[in-house]
Amino acid sequence: MALKLEPGARLVVATHNPGKAVELAQVLDNRFVLVTAGELGLAEPDETETTFTGNALLKARAAAQASGLIALADDSGLSVSALDGAPGIYSARWAGPDRDFSEAMRKVESRLEEVGAEDFSAWFTCALAVAWPDGPMVAVEGRIDGTLTFPARGTRGFGYDPIFTPTGGELTFGEMEPAAKDAISHRALAFAKLKAALL
Ligand code: IMP
Repeated sequence: MALKLEPGARLVVATHNPGKAVELAQVLDNRFVLVTAGELGLAEPDETETTFTGNALLKARAAAQASGLIALADDSGLSVSALDGAPGIYSARWAGPDRDFSEAMRKVESRLEEVGAEDFSAWFTCALAVAWPDGPMVAVEGRIDGTLTFPARGTRGFGYDPIFTPTGGELTFGEMEPAAKDAISHRALAFAKLKAALL
């Protein structure tokens, strides 16, 4: 039988960030009742996989097994060609315990200087995974390509947005209107694929 998500289903989102559940509910057109792993008091598993999809599946599987609900998880980050894909799955960790992304962006710039990079191409990836408590899982990935721009520009968005200019554009994600970013982002592509697969 094909895996489908019925409207009104109760899903657990594998995050301890309440803002993320609100954002995901909107992206999913408020079709589901979402609770977070944090609200259910579930432990956060260590992200021990080596790929975005691996970590999204790991988080979704852990939340589904612990809650008995269908679980949704994401994993995302920035990959830089000249740094062999770093920071990649370590994107959040490069910002340190204080989540200081100015520091993380400086680190990307200094690593590029260290390797004498001439290629500033980079991409964002968003992996989404859905796991059912009885075992089945679905995962999709969205990706957007672009170029790193220094110095950082713009105060919108989050994370590495001020140094990322999508291919074909002139503004960084940090300068773009949120709706313009949302129309083309890795996250939007991943959700479009997930909806096509499951709704
Ligand atoms: P996660 O919450 O473990 O998936 O960490 C994702 C990290 O990747 C975030 O903390 C950001 O640093 C980075 N990231 C993912 N998506 C974006 C984006 O759209 N803009 C900027 N940074 C992003």
